[in-house]
Amino acid sequence: MSKPILLNVTEEIVQGLVRFLLHSPDYQTFCDCDFCQMNISADALNHLPTYYVSTSAAREEAYLTLKTPEHIELINKKIIVAIHTVGKKPNHTI
Ligand SMILES: [Zn+2]
Repeated sequence: MSKPILLNVTEEIVQGLVRFLLHSPDYQTFCDCDFCQMNISADALNHLPTYYVSTSAAREEAYLTLKTPEHIELINKKIIVAIHTVGKKPNHTI
């Protein structure tokens, strides 16, 4: 039996998409430092429902549920809003 886990699957998906979007040509003008990436992820996640799981099997299932075009579109929308919010007022301590 695999170890129990406590994980917000939405968080995993958001972090992956934030990295992907910030490296895409559309968002080249925005800072992609770790501070801004985390800041954007936090802002987007505060506007999305959580999806916690406690087993690897449930995590796989959650991915199937959340990786539908409708869910990804909603998640992308919240991330894009967050990119602009953070971009207006970056909080990197450099
Ligand atoms: Zn930054």
